[in-house]
Amino acid sequence: MRLKNLEINGFKSFAKKTILEFQNPIISIVGPNGSGKSNVVEALRFVLGEQSIKSMRGSSGSDLIFKGSKNLSKSSRASVVIHFDNSDKVFKLSNETGENINLNYDSVSISREVYSDGLNKYILNGSEVRLKDINNLLSSVNIGSSQHHIISQGEADRILNASSKDRREMIEDALGLKIFQYKIKEAQRKLERTTNNMKEVSLLRRENAPHLNFLKKQVDKFEKVKEMQVTLLLLYKEYLKKESIYLEKEKANLFIEKNKISLELEDIKEKISNVDEIDRKEESEKEKELKILEKKIHEISGIKGEIERKLGRIEGMVEMEERRKEKTPKIIVRNPEEIKMTFTEISNVIEEAFLKEDIYEIKQILTRVKNILNKFNQNEDILEDTSLDLEIQNLKNQQQEISFEIQRMEEIEKENFSKVEILKKEISEENEILHIKEKEKFNFRVKQQELSSSLSFISVKEENFKKEIESFENEIKEGYALVDSDILSYKNFSNRDGAEIVVNKIEQEELRRKIERIKIKLEDVGLGGGSEIMKEFEEVKERDDFLTKEMEDLAKSIESLHTLMADLKEKIDIEFKEGIKKINVEFTNFFSLMFGGGEGHLSIVTENKKKKVEEEIEGDLSTQAEEKEEILFEYGIDIDVSLPHKKVKELNALSGGERSLTSIALLFAMSQVNPPPFLVLDETDAALDEANSRKYGDMLEKLSHHSQLVVVTHNRETMSRAGILYGVTVGSDGASKLLSVKLDEAAVIAK
Ligand code: ATP
Repeated sequence: MRLKNLEINGFKSFAKKTILEFQNPIISIVGPNGSGKSNVVEALRFVLGEQSIKSMRGSSGSDLIFKGSKNLSKSSRASVVIHFDNSDKVFKLSNETGENINLNYDSVSISREVYSDGLNKYILNGSEVRLKDINNLLSSVNIGSSQHHIISQGEADRILNASSKDRREMIEDALGLKIFQYKIKEAQRKLERTTNNMKEVSLLRRENAPHLNFLKKQVDKFEKVKEMQVTLLLLYKEYLKKESIYLEKEKANLFIEKNKISLELEDIKEKISNVDEIDRKEESEKEKELKILEKKIHEISGIKGEIERKLGRIEGMVEMEERRKEKTPKIIVRNPEEIKMTFTEISNVIEEAFLKEDIYEIKQILTRVKNILNKFNQNEDILEDTSLDLEIQNLKNQQQEISFEIQRMEEIEKENFSKVEILKKEISEENEILHIKEKEKFNFRVKQQELSSSLSFISVKEENFKKEIESFENEIKEGYALVDSDILSYKNFSNRDGAEIVVNKIEQEELRRKIERIKIKLEDVGLGGGSEIMKEFEEVKERDDFLTKEMEDLAKSIESLHTLMADLKEKIDIEFKEGIKKINVEFTNFFSLMFGGGEGHLSIVTENKKKKVEEEIEGDLSTQAEEKEEILFEYGIDIDVSLPHKKVKELNALSGGERSLTSIALLFAMSQVNPPPFLVLDETDAALDEANSRKYGDMLEKLSHHSQLVVVTHNRETMSRAGILYGVTVGSDGASKLLSVKLDEAAVIAK
């Protein structure tokens, strides 16, 4: 027994809490008109999630709440609770992915409350849930939302009146296919959501694309720059290392060269100064001596000339005296003593002159000689002829003495001349030495000049070297700006094979040209902001990758949803067709049982429907929506009957009773194929005559083997088939009351 009990509280005419126990396969509810029997059926509809207020005979939710009576005030809410047995764990809830989850409760209770403002609450085993969860749950026990198993009063032939499409739904419900429909709907909703998500993601990607393309170009550029930087660094390392080696060598060479020249220059300077000193010491001494000697010779020559002139005079005198002696007998006689004295005196004076060197003194002595001779001449005595001879003799003596003197002077002169010669020779020799030294000095000067020029040249070289150092440092600075501090790693550069680094000026020039070329290219491209662009590109790319992945995932889930829907549709289609076949067998059975022959048949009819759909054309990230017409095949159910002994086949042509019998036969056939846990039949037997009532009763009993039956009836035959009878009456307070009654009592109450 699936159905355990039903609690009604504040619902319609049931003002107070009323409990119906369903402890029997067939429960019959009886009572007078207007007592509230149909309200019990509606309470069942209500709690099972009925959404049509109209089908519960109301216009708004508040119509379902007890409105109050003479003695009872109105209720604030209506509440109905239904309890099911779930010891076999047949109740299931399907989750988002369509998997069924068993409800691990022995009993399942569903409660629905409605408030005067129309608000509804659904509670499953004490927890508030959504209506769709209730539908989902009930479909697992073949209680569909079409509620084909609850036949309200006057609706016995509802299934005959329904459209072929509604009939299909009722049958799908009865066949337990509704759960798949829910799943399809769920999948459709999901598909819609997923398609929308996909559109959004696609839009986001399209929005991102220009920025991403821009960043990609920037990153490509930056990567090119990086590549160039790597090449530049390699070239720089080799170039700078070689340049530093070259500069070091150049520095050392310059130092050595300069040092060498400086030392040579110092040496030359010293040599030159030595030569100068020698010159100053020796130069004028001998020349001075020569000059003195030449002066002395000149003076002696003067004195000698004077004495020679004196000799000439004496010779003249001798000549004159001799002629006078010839002409005159006068003889100049000289005192011999006086002559001797004068001679002695002159000799002494001359001797004295020889001792003197100074010409002035010599001149004085000579003056004295002259005075002596003058005095001697003044003292001459003219003698007789005899004395003249003496005089001549005396003069001749003087002549001889003077000649001697001249001879002596000549010797002195000669001696001095030889001295002059020697001195001149010495001076000449010295001059020769001096000349050699001069020449040497000149050579030194030339060398000094050469060395000074070399030193100047070294200075020029040093200046150039300074410029080279400056340009080397500038190159490092420029390199630093282009490849950062890595530039300093040139110090660690070495040949790959470890060979010694050889600096070749031509190769250096070639390296330099290559460096310059890359520098120009880098200047063209520009360096700035690479790392930020890179970071931004990574972020945007990551986002785009994420979106691409999401698109793929969404496309996959769209595909799997399509597959799921197609599978479900196929399943429904197969099961539906099979179900129809089975129902048709049962339908004919029940039909011929009810009508004593004839047959009833369900057939599937298809109807083409045009539906406009918007289709999205995917391609190159631009999405265009295109309207398309899609032809949908909808199918419904037609009912064909063939009454025994009658030609009538149209449903419309059947009598009220025949309609009731046909729909009961169909309903029972449906219930037979896939029995619901319970069937509610509100006065479905109203139009039946006694014979048919019996047949109806038989069928109820047959059905009750598989489904519990709740029957509202005024029919005694039907009552007689029930295990439990509930009598509904209206109490003095104006509210419906429920009491368990016996068949006889029931028959009375029902009247
Ligand atoms: P019948 O045998 O004639 O079909 P019934 O026993 O099925 O009658 P119901 O149709 O269930 O009777 O009950 C109808 C009664 O319930 C009416 O008298 C009506 O006034 C009462 N009723 C309906 N709605 C409310 C409500 N909201 N509050 C109070 N009473 C209500």
